[in-house]
Amino acid sequence: MSFETDALVLKSGDAGESDRIVTLLTADYGVIRAFANKAKKSNSQMQAATQTFCYGRFSVYTGRDSYTINRAEAKEVFFELRQDIERLALGQYFCSLAVELIPEGEPAPDSLRVILNSLSFLQKEKRSKQFLKAVTELKLISLAGFAPDLSACGICGDNPAGNVYFDTDSGRFFCEKHKKGNFVITPGVLTAMRHVTLNPVDRIYSFALTPADEELFGRVTENFLLRRTGKSFKALEFYKTVSLG
Ligand SMILES: [Zn+2]
Repeated sequence: MSFETDALVLKSGDAGESDRIVTLLTADYGVIRAFANKAKKSNSQMQAATQTFCYGRFSVYTGRDSYTINRAEAKEVFFELRQDIERLALGQYFCSLAVELIPEGEPAPDSLRVILNSLSFLQKEKRSKQFLKAVTELKLISLAGFAPDLSACGICGDNPAGNVYFDTDSGRFFCEKHKKGNFVITPGVLTAMRHVTLNPVDRIYSFALTPADEELFGRVTENFLLRRTGKSFKALEFYKTVSLG
C-alpha cells in the first residue's frame, strides 16, 4: 500500500552507502521515518528532495514495518538557512520540536503550517528570531494539546487590566490578590499569548511587541514548553550556544 502526502523533511541521515533515512512531518500522518533508496546518488530528484528543510510532495510505500519513499518532488526549500549558523540552529530546533510533539499516524496539517511559516519568515529574516521562536513554541505546544488557559484568573475569574502572574506548571494566570506562578507578565505579553493560542495558524504572526515584552514573551514560552513536555532539547541548547552575544 502507498499514499501521497505533503511533507517537510525534519531530519535526514545516512542509511548505508547509497540510501537515506529521513524523518518527515507529513500533513496526513504526522511524523514518520522513511527510507529513501538511492537518495545519495547525485543528480537524482530524490537527492535534493530528501534533505533537511525540503518541503514537497511525497509518495510513500507502507511496508510491513517500515516506510519507503517512492517518489519525492520539492515544492519549497529552506536551504538558505544553512548560510547562517544561528538561523540554521533555530530552524533545527523547530524541527526537533515537531519530532517530539507530533505523534505518528495522526494528521498534523496545522503544525506543519506553523513550521513552514516559521522557517519561511526565518529564512527571509522577516521577523526577529526571538519572536519566531516564541510564537512557534507556544503554537506547537498548544496544538499538541497543552494550550495554556488564559481566559481569567485561575482562582477568582477576574480579568485584571495590569500585570498578572503566570504559572508555567499549570498554564494558568492569577491576579494580584491570588499571586501564584513563576512569571509576572505584562498586559502586552498576555495579549500576545492569547493571540497565538486562540487564532488560526495563518494569523498568529500578525502582532508586534515592545522589545522588553518580546524578550519576556520568549522566556515565558520556552519555560512553559520545557515544563509541559518535561523534556530537554539538544537543538535548543545548541541554538543558545551560538546565539550568545
Ligand atoms: Zn484572582
